[in-house]
Amino acid sequence: MNVDVAVVGAGPAGLATAYALDRAGLTVRVLESDEAVGGRMRTLRARGCLIDTGAEMLPSAAGYPATWRLIRALGLDADAVPRVRDALGVWRDGRVHPHVGRPLGLLTGAGLPPRARLDLVRLRLRLARRRPGPATTVADLVGKYHPDLREFLVEPLVAGFFGWDPRRSAAAVFAEHLTTAGSTNTWHTYRDGMDSLARALAVGLDVVTGHEVTGVVTCPGGVRLESPRGSVTARAAVLAVPAPVAARLHPGAPPDERAYLEACTYAPMLRLSLVLNRPAAAGWRGFATLVPATEDPVLNVITADHRKHPGRAPAGRGLISLVTSPYGTATLMGERDEKVADQLVGRAERFVPGLASRVARFHVHRFPYGLPEATPRALALRAAFEGRPGSAVEYAGDWVALRPCSEGAVAAAERTAARVLARLT
Ligand SMILES: Cc1cc2nc3c(=O)[nH]c(=O)nc-3n(C[C@H](O)[C@H](O)[C@H](O)COP(=O)(O)OP(=O)(O)OC[C@H]3O[C@@H](n4cnc5c(N)ncnc54)[C@H](O)[C@@H]3O)c2cc1C
Repeated sequence: MNVDVAVVGAGPAGLATAYALDRAGLTVRVLESDEAVGGRMRTLRARGCLIDTGAEMLPSAAGYPATWRLIRALGLDADAVPRVRDALGVWRDGRVHPHVGRPLGLLTGAGLPPRARLDLVRLRLRLARRRPGPATTVADLVGKYHPDLREFLVEPLVAGFFGWDPRRSAAAVFAEHLTTAGSTNTWHTYRDGMDSLARALAVGLDVVTGHEVTGVVTCPGGVRLESPRGSVTARAAVLAVPAPVAARLHPGAPPDERAYLEACTYAPMLRLSLVLNRPAAAGWRGFATLVPATEDPVLNVITADHRKHPGRAPAGRGLISLVTSPYGTATLMGERDEKVADQLVGRAERFVPGLASRVARFHVHRFPYGLPEATPRALALRAAFEGRPGSAVEYAGDWVALRPCSEGAVAAAERTAARVLARLT
């Protein structure tokens, strides 16, 4: 065997698993198809800008305990993970309404009329008392409340941040995320790019980039991981890739594992980052703004990344990102980069006047596997998957515990590392 454990994927799940196993004394190799680590939390560095391609932010330790345990273990100090001010707003009636998702918003309105705000309080109280049943979808859950709550908060939120169709995703997963993540007032970011955690984890680990794994088969004493760059043998493998990729790599998975892998479908996501040669329009406030479908069916979130942290763009320039709605993603995912940029900048001009004239460069980020959809079917199969016996092929990733966020990936890594250790030591 080349190593004790081969981990496929150098996103947060794979690297956190490898880090834990390496510290426990096992020999570990991480095989990553991309040229850099980070996965959906990768950051590009271009012309002095730090361009977060996927993940944007993390809440405080109360919301992301496993992530913050790692942050502390890696010695990243508080300055390296600063707070984001004016984190979330919503566009309504020609302007941004700030304070969405925080208690102050109940007073200022945050784009909702008083009756919808009252319903928001009711909804939160209800979720704190009792989780929705496993078959209830997000659409079922909010359908009973004021229509503005759905239109100007829940739908743009789940579509913009998870790529979800509210009619397909389980309300229980949404409720779990909402209650654990807490107020948007607690949002933080990594000062040096959202890939900071991945880069810090990779230091000292055996990580091979540009190595795409094409299949995993069990063999006497362990597993063999195939690749055009040569095979690697290990006593155990951890597939830290989105579930549909894991299902493809490991066709020999036992039927009960397979059922969960196949139920863990993903919503695709599309984001356009715009490097500006001047800051965005004066008066534009806050970091992320939700755009409800009634305002624009294609654009879903506008983020002013230079407001998330000033280090994202050099002084005098700006960095704006445009995230598409599920409808926009379906329409534009297969189009050329230039067409994606033209369409989205044209639409965004209404919200950020003068944007088109400021764009110096653009980058399109496509995620066919954006975030786990967390359907009622996947939720129903989760407990059986979690209770499966240990195996030479284990899994890590946000889908394992069905949490549409990086905390899900890191928390899964803790459990996966414990399962591998229990088997090998
Ligand atoms: C647009 C967007 C915005 C997001 N915003 C946030 C946010 O603000 N906050 C938050 O907490 N989360 C956010 N997320 C979710 C977060 O990025 C993911 O939950 C997290 O990255 C999942 O980590 P992972 O390690 O499970 O998977 P990934 O990050 O996808 O890592 C998997 C890795 O496996 C590699 N790989 C795939 N196939 C192979 C193969 N065959 N061989 C070798 N390597 C392979 C990939 O290249 C990748 O590096 C966002 C995601 C997206 C797409």
